[in-house]
Amino acid sequence: ALLFAFSKNKENIRCLTTLGHFGFECLPTQLVNKSIQKGFSFNILCVGESGIGKSTLINTLFNTNLKESKSSHFYSKVGLKVKTFDLHERNIPLKLTVVKTVGYGDQISKEASYQPVVDYLDAQFELYLQEELKVHRSLVTYHDSRIHVCLYFITPTGHSLKSLDLLTLKNIDRRVNIVPLIAKADSLSKSDLQRFKHNIMSELVSNGIQIYQFPVDDEATAEVNTTMNCKEKKKSNMLLPFAVVGSMEEVKVGKRMVRGRHYPWGVLQVENENHCDFVRLRDLLLSANMEDLKDQTHTQHYECYRSSRLLKLGFNDTGPDNRPVSFQEMYEAKRQEFQVQCQREEEELKHSFMQRVKEKELTFKDAEKELQDKFEHLKRIQQEEILKLEEERRKLEEQIIEFYKTKTASETSQTQLYTSVKRD
Ligand code: GDP
Repeated sequence: ALLFAFSKNKENIRCLTTLGHFGFECLPTQLVNKSIQKGFSFNILCVGESGIGKSTLINTLFNTNLKESKSSHFYSKVGLKVKTFDLHERNIPLKLTVVKTVGYGDQISKEASYQPVVDYLDAQFELYLQEELKVHRSLVTYHDSRIHVCLYFITPTGHSLKSLDLLTLKNIDRRVNIVPLIAKADSLSKSDLQRFKHNIMSELVSNGIQIYQFPVDDEATAEVNTTMNCKEKKKSNMLLPFAVVGSMEEVKVGKRMVRGRHYPWGVLQVENENHCDFVRLRDLLLSANMEDLKDQTHTQHYECYRSSRLLKLGFNDTGPDNRPVSFQEMYEAKRQEFQVQCQREEEELKHSFMQRVKEKELTFKDAEKELQDKFEHLKRIQQEEILKLEEERRKLEEQIIEFYKTKTASETSQTQLYTSVKRD
């Protein structure tokens, strides 16, 4: 038998305390099993100059040799190398996509360096949006290529960020979760490193660049994440940006083999927290916050892209009078607007066509009149010529008649003369 203790809360919802077994306590287990079956995916973007240590760090993070050829410094523009790997940790499958910049920082124009990164991030959002808007969509099987985290590799100058760093970060911070890293941190001394970290953080704040905030609302990760977000940390043990060192080399330290970098003066152990922040980065990125990074990508960055894209297309949740409107109403309104616009354009086209026809008619009429005038003129000239010729003919005829008259008269007088001579 089940017994319920119930109470009424403000919203008139009864809270019941179960005193028996229903089975829905197994929901988390069901979710876990389903997720394992489906598998996980994670997409990382590495932005940084060629040779800064991007490939080495990714290999060190996943303890695998994700083999790749070395990048040149002579690319005409920045490219993005995309590689997907199927990894397994115990029985958990992970589809890992690593996107790396090629030729970043080698371009004369700064825009040419960061714009391809911005375009790539937007293109992945657009692909997802197009899938989402399809009538027959398959989001379950869709390979989501949206970037969940951007590891930004800062060159270990020991000074501050370069203008290209600031420009890139400013342009991508609303599009992706940024985790800044100081690459090849073994090249900085302890005090230089702390000063460098401090300078970088102040520059990020003063330029209004938003980096990934480690979540503090989850009990499991709150403690460790709170220390990460704390901006007022003591300068001496400041963590962000993570100072990382990558290496797949196995080095003997005492009796143990560790991953590290061997120098003439000693060994830097990659997984030693006193040597660098690699372990803390790996824990925070992969063990503690991977799911949150994916959540933030979907709920914050993608949402931002989606809403601005739909607004640009003319969709809105409220009408001009601030009244909420449904998608159907918006669609109808848009359709009507489109029809009115089409009609208007048709009218304009008709009007301009008629105008052109009239203009053509006028030019034809003018040409016709000109031809007519020419014709009349020629006709008049011809008639005058005819009259002139008629006159000349008449005169000639008169002359001929005159000639014949004279001829007859002379013949008559000749005949008379001949007769009188004969008689005499
Ligand atoms: P990518 O072009 O950014 O992918 O750079 P790579 O990972 O190919 O590294 C370029 C060179 O830097 C290689 O010779 C690495 O051994 C070296 N390297 C990588 N990580 C580190 C590091 O943390 N410290 C030092 N000193 N060298 C590193």
